[in-house]
Formats: sequence, structure tokens, C-alpha cells
Amino acid sequence: MKERRRIVVKVGTSTLTYDTGKINLKRLEQLVRVLADLMNMGLEVILVSSGAIGVGVGKLGLTEKPSDTRQKQALAAIGQASLMSIYEKYFKEYGYNTGQVLLTKFVLEDEQRYVSAKNAFETMIEYRVIPIVNENDVISTYEIEFGDNDTLSAYVANLVDADLLVILSDIDGFYDGNPNEKGSKLIPVIEEITEDIRRCAGGVGTRRGTGGMQTKLHAAELVLPNGIDMIIANGDAPDKLYEIVEGKSVGTLFVSKAI
Ligand code: GLU
Repeated sequence: MKERRRIVVKVGTSTLTYDTGKINLKRLEQLVRVLADLMNMGLEVILVSSGAIGVGVGKLGLTEKPSDTRQKQALAAIGQASLMSIYEKYFKEYGYNTGQVLLTKFVLEDEQRYVSAKNAFETMIEYRVIPIVNENDVISTYEIEFGDNDTLSAYVANLVDADLLVILSDIDGFYDGNPNEKGSKLIPVIEEITEDIRRCAGGVGTRRGTGGMQTKLHAAELVLPNGIDMIIANGDAPDKLYEIVEGKSVGTLFVSKAI
């Protein structure tokens, strides 16, 4: 097994918030404690966190997440600051500082900006600060409509040349069918993304809802050619990250090509 030293962890809104839209403080605190502990072990941690819009919804006491882009962008702005302040408070308790990085795909596709972002990440990592990344939803209409933090986390893993990308989701891993249907089985290791695997993610020819697996598969396709392994695991128990760094089997491991 490759050494898992530089790790990008992506966490989604459903892991971080309750159905009420309010932050799941217990979960968030557990996650921060484990990430800080991994830093104590000498690892390098980069966190990609969704939840800005979700937290904005909870903050304003709205009953549901609006579908209108204009409102979503405002809610992202309203929620992002609160999300960061909670992360900052918890990480500080465990002795770490954080740095906020808001990115868009377009930024990373521009060479000069790519280099700036890379330098900022590297410098924060040298300072032993934890970069916390989200999409810059306020200015990126395209991303807010079609974008997702699974893809963003893959871009970030490539940017920082990570050893491992961990996507914490609200299901246990990648299944051979709809995870909500009886009889579907979790696939522990995926060595190659075949047409069969693509079909399992709910690609062409199936109408199964598979809990956002298509974007996760896309993330895998972005990182694997660069020698970065990817794991999909359930975010309900952040302690599993310990097992992941020890190389134990958790969720689904997508094995990268040796480069
Ligand atoms: N960037 C969005 C947010 O922070 C979420 C996007 C996603 O969940 O993939 O609310």
C-alpha cells in the first residue's frame, strides 16, 4: 500500500447538517477532532467542505433549500462565514488554524491562477494550517447549478498532489445497484472503472437513484490517472478515518494506476 500522508477529505452537507438545516455540531466536532489528530500524527490534511447553502438555510430559518440560483448564491454567502467560524472554533480547540479557500473550476483551468492556488495550499500545508475549501458559489452560476463538491475535491486532490482522496458520504460506499434497494451489495475495491461499474452508478440505461454516485465516479476518474487513490466511506462515524489511514478496508477503495 502507498503511504497515505497527504489526504484530502471531502464532507457533504448531509453529513454536516440535520434535516432541520442546522449544523450537526456533534458530527462536525468529531470530524474536526479526528482531522486534528491525523495532523498530530504528522499527516497533512486538506478539507473540502460543503454545507454553506445548508447552513444559510438553517440560519434564516427557511423550511427548505430554494431551487432558485439567486437565492442559493445569497444563502451560500450567508452560510459560508458561519460554517468557517464553527470550523475555526473547533480546530482551534485542538491547536490548529484554518485557511479558507473558495474555488471555481474556471480558476483552476487558468494556468496562472492554478499556480497561485497551488502555492497558497503548499504554504498553508508548510505552516501546518488546515485549508478548508468550498466552491465559490456566489460567483459561479454554472457550478451552483451543475457543480458539486465531489468534482471540486478531485480537482483539489490533483492540485495538491495528494496521496488519497476520501469522500465522506451518507452511504457506506459504492454499491452494485441502488444502495436503498435490498440485495445491493457494497463493492469494497474497484481496480478499474468498467462499463459495468458505470452502470452501477446509474449511468445510461438505468433510472436508479444511486445517492450521487455519478459525481463520485467522475471524481475517481479525475484522480486515479494521477496516482491518487480514492475512498468513498460513510461520514456518520469520522473515526473511520483512523482505519483508512492505517490501510484497513473501509467503504469502497478505488485503486489508482501506478505512475
Ligand atoms: N458548495 C455547496 C455548499 O457549500 C454544496 C455543493 C455540494 O454539496 O456538492 O453548500
